[in-house]
Amino acid sequence: MTEAAPASTDLAALLRWYVEQGLDETIGEVAIDRFALPPPVVVAAPAAPTPVPRTPTAALPTPAPVRAPIPLESPQLVEDARTLAEGCATLAELEAAVRGFEGCALKRTAKNTVFADGTPGADVMIVGEAPGADEDRLGKPFAGVSGQLMDRMMQAIGLTREGGFYITNILFWRPPGNRTPTLAEQGMCLAFTRRHIELARPKLLILAGGTAAKAVLDTTEGIMRLRGKWASVRLADGTEIPAMPTFHPAYLLRTPASKRQSWLDLLAVDRKLKELGTR
Ligand code: URA
Repeated sequence: MTEAAPASTDLAALLRWYVEQGLDETIGEVAIDRFALPPPVVVAAPAAPTPVPRTPTAALPTPAPVRAPIPLESPQLVEDARTLAEGCATLAELEAAVRGFEGCALKRTAKNTVFADGTPGADVMIVGEAPGADEDRLGKPFAGVSGQLMDRMMQAIGLTREGGFYITNILFWRPPGNRTPTLAEQGMCLAFTRRHIELARPKLLILAGGTAAKAVLDTTEGIMRLRGKWASVRLADGTEIPAMPTFHPAYLLRTPASKRQSWLDLLAVDRKLKELGTR
């Protein structure tokens, strides 16, 4: 049974107590995000040494129970997500379904489900990639520095979260260490995102960054080729929604010279809204 830590401030006593409790290895002062580490390299085992004969009474260690691998690539989970999403008739139902969905492994490492922000039913819906650390902590998409840039850019064409646009991501959970989501993770969340677009019924979509643009438009074309050109997203009922792929604000923070192109994309959005008679 674990004993209480010594009340003393004597470091030697404290260290002795740690050793007695089984903590006998010094690790490091900085936390390691093991989800972000590359998979271990498997090195061929050296030739086995000559076995040492065991005495018949030597007890073999009980092997640790092996957990069944998580079926991350399971197409069934993508199908489950689609069936669940299609059964939702309102945004509130969809949000509840996403929050309750246990099929995506990303949920296990995330602090929060990040569903959407802004105004449901707004003419413009922005779809980004995935929550980062700030979004995971606050449970709100585009809540960090790239979100602040996104807000300033949208404000420049007269649109704010309060009434002007609705915003979400293709993923509802932060990938550990901000790694690129696997295709299976994207597929599961995308099933919900497609229904999200159908239920939010925007007049147009802004796809922020290559990952979101490729996923929503179901293309392998990169953002450099896609950006600035209107594409179209077909909803289940046959309606086509114009979609403008544009650079991700995080990319613009790293490459400010590209802001000029993003500004042209936003001017195209502004013109389209006028053409559609919404402003
Ligand atoms: N980047 C995104 O794509 N989405 C967020 O919510 C935050 C950063």
